[in-house]
Amino acid sequence: MQPLFNPPLHKQRHQFVVDFIKKYKTKKVMDLGCGECILLKQLKFHREIELLVGVDINGAKVKKKGYALAPLSTDYLQPGFEQLCVELYQGSVTEPDSRLRGFDLAVSIELIEHLVLPDVERFSEVLFGYMAPVHVIISTPNSEFNPLFPGLTGFRHPDHKFEWTRAQFQTWAQRVCVDFGYEVEITGVGLPPGGRQEQVGFCSQIAVFHHLKGELHVTPEERSQGETSYTLLHRIIYPSLKDNNVLRRVLLSEVLFWAEELKRRWRERQERGEREETEETWTKHTGECGEERPPKDQQRSAAGDEESNGNSASQRECVSVPLSLLWASSPRVGSLSGSLANLRLFLMEEPTVKLSQDGSALLLQTDEHEAYEGDLEDSGFADVELNQSVSPKSLENWEED
Ligand code: SAM
Repeated sequence: MQPLFNPPLHKQRHQFVVDFIKKYKTKKVMDLGCGECILLKQLKFHREIELLVGVDINGAKVKKKGYALAPLSTDYLQPGFEQLCVELYQGSVTEPDSRLRGFDLAVSIELIEHLVLPDVERFSEVLFGYMAPVHVIISTPNSEFNPLFPGLTGFRHPDHKFEWTRAQFQTWAQRVCVDFGYEVEITGVGLPPGGRQEQVGFCSQIAVFHHLKGELHVTPEERSQGETSYTLLHRIIYPSLKDNNVLRRVLLSEVLFWAEELKRRWRERQERGEREETEETWTKHTGECGEERPPKDQQRSAAGDEESNGNSASQRECVSVPLSLLWASSPRVGSLSGSLANLRLFLMEEPTVKLSQDGSALLLQTDEHEAYEGDLEDSGFADVELNQSVSPKSLENWEED
């Protein structure tokens, strides 16, 4: 049989939500009756969202499918400045929970028809009266469309407790508006074939509510100290450059990458016998990297003295990479550190790198035999590698569950 809709209807419902979020730039979004977390998985890529919450009565389903909400390795390697926290709860939407107050948007896709009518009343009170989000999107089947499904008798799903006509849905929506101070637009997705929209309406009818007073101000204390009837299954905090530790790790990786790249280019120029354009800043000297260095003209003899003192193990040929050159070469170093002065301060506090005495250049070893693996461990590159291969805490939890 030919599918009735292209794209499939569930995708059209989810796309409706995505388009709404793009338009209204909602930051705190909850999906009530999130089921297999399919919509949440799509929404986690919309970085305007800062808090994404899923609630379903079926905790086992959420646990089983929700693992896919864990950050990807790219989220660790290339975090942005956006912040995202995902929370998944087991609970019934007919019960209040203060942690779900003060949201910008609540979405409930194909849920209410699974509730008996007294529970629809409780759900309305909890959602519109207690949680009181700024916007609400509710979708439910339109029973007037059902005759167009070949061979369908009764409801579309055996668990449905009712399926409303357009008039019934509108009556419920308008009463909610009067009782709780919202306004509503009714629309839908899934057009009938043959231009019969006026006759039967959309396959899925959708009500979009807007709070007449706008945002409900809920303090973090009110959120955390009010009544809690849901069980928190997972909280996942995505890495963000707003976290200082993450910022330092990423900036260090970027600096070291570019320093090594510049050193490689410098070495190639040396081998070709090309004269350095910036010879005064690009210096190659002998001595332990980061230690006080003798003047350029004494380097040879200082090296010789140390050698004759049997101290050659501590000697390394170093190349100093000017921070200004690093800054100019990598826009990302610039955007991460903010200014050249910040970059210098950051590197001065970073124990794994060596700076020249005046702090204007990064010192890198030039030894041909330099132990890359060891350097990587010391440099922070290894941290990045570890972060890729060792499961972060949240992933461990997912695995356990
Ligand atoms: N919203 C999802 C979507 O768009 O794919 C799933 C819809 S599924 C048809 C209905 C979901 O509502 C199920 O996952 C079910 O477990 C959940 N549900 C039913 N009664 C509920 C209640 N009282 N509280 C929370 N979730 C409930």
